[in-house]
Amino acid sequence: MFLPDSEGIQERSAVDFGGEMLGAKAVARAKINLYLGVGALRGDGYHEIRSIMQSLDLCDELYFRRTEGPPNEVKIRCNDRSVPTDDANLVSRAVRVFLENTRQPYSGGFEVLINKKIPVAAGLAGGSADAAAALLAMDHIFETGMQAEGLLDMAEMLGSDVPFCMLGGTAVASGRGERLTRIPGLPPLQVVLASTGQPEDTREAYARFDRIDESKKPDGSHFEESINNLVLSLERQDFDYVLKNLYNSLEFAATAGDKLTELKETALKAGAKAALMTGSGPTVFALVSGLEKASGVAWELEKCAPVTIVTSFADKGAEVSRLI
Ligand code: ATP
Repeated sequence: MFLPDSEGIQERSAVDFGGEMLGAKAVARAKINLYLGVGALRGDGYHEIRSIMQSLDLCDELYFRRTEGPPNEVKIRCNDRSVPTDDANLVSRAVRVFLENTRQPYSGGFEVLINKKIPVAAGLAGGSADAAAALLAMDHIFETGMQAEGLLDMAEMLGSDVPFCMLGGTAVASGRGERLTRIPGLPPLQVVLASTGQPEDTREAYARFDRIDESKKPDGSHFEESINNLVLSLERQDFDYVLKNLYNSLEFAATAGDKLTELKETALKAGAKAALMTGSGPTVFALVSGLEKASGVAWELEKCAPVTIVTSFADKGAEVSRLI
């Protein structure tokens, strides 16, 4: 499967029939981790992480329509059959969290159509991005005009990656991923994604990481310094340093280790400037200069990966866009 990237996103607006807001379209952008240092397991079951996250143009599209009810019912349809359409979907949870926290006097429900283009359970934060998009769509439909802070608080309740998926661009993430600082990004590069096609459960990947013998585990004491050096290099536009120092602790715990190595080596041989696993896998991203070279890298990866996608960096996260 060789998928072109999504079309351009238009200005923010809701559907307006005779003055009544009836629905919204939102886009949910994927992310990759340019750096992911996994530290200690905390008392609350989360790991302390140090990460540099980057938004991608690759996105899901979500269409929201109000229904007469029953109250708070969220009906979901999705083109990807592996995505849950019941309460396990992060979009249902986001709608409910929004309605509860903003105390909307609303007795209706919602229908949400998800056009999924972000591969599922692939380390690209597709579910988190959908949740961020749902919060923005709700804010738009109910015209709450909430400040970013209020929405980010709700995003944090929904998952560690949801705040970044809302903020977008390039950011350093710490804590369990929810503490964010925007930083300058890399120059516009093409991003070729190649996945083994085997979904990866994030929790299991972290559990495998915890089981690795301490003596064989990556030394976490350098994460802070490494991230600081990367941020300094981005500020100085020393991009070669950044591209040489991308890192992901979870590669040590990846089940598809050999396959990931094959994908990374294939990408580098075909001209990628850097290649790394994103999140808990099983997707490898390759950073490539220029679309022609990116096509060549994708061509080679396509031979050994069941899912190959060409996309690019985005400087923003989820947003509400015009429904024509
Ligand atoms: P993480 O953000 O934990 O790193 P991921 O990016 O690897 O996860 P997702 O695509 O978010 O993976 O999917 C993880 C699981 O979340 C899926 O297996 C699915 O059961 C569940 N899920 C809930 N809502 C959604 C959604 N809207 N889109 C995709 N998956 C969802």
